[in-house]
Amino acid sequence: MKNKKIRCPICKKETARQGNPWRPFCSERCKTIDLASWASGEYRISGEKKKEDEESPSEDQQVDRSGDGEK
Ligand SMILES: [Zn+2]
Repeated sequence: MKNKKIRCPICKKETARQGNPWRPFCSERCKTIDLASWASGEYRISGEKKKEDEESPSEDQQVDRSGDGEK
C-alpha cells in the first residue's frame, strides 16, 4: 500500500490517497461540497440522532403538562 488510488466520492475523480490532505476527497473544493451537503441535511449518519432529537422535546412537553395540571 504505497500509492493507492482512491476515488473522490464527490466528483468520482481518481486521486492519490497518500499525501493527500483532503482524502478521501481529491481537493479542498470537494471536501467543502461534502461538508455543505452534511450541513444542509442531505446526508444522515443514522436515525438515532434524529430520534433522540424528537424524543427530548415531547418528553419535556409531557412533564411540563402534567406538572401544570397538578398545580
Ligand atoms: Zn473531487
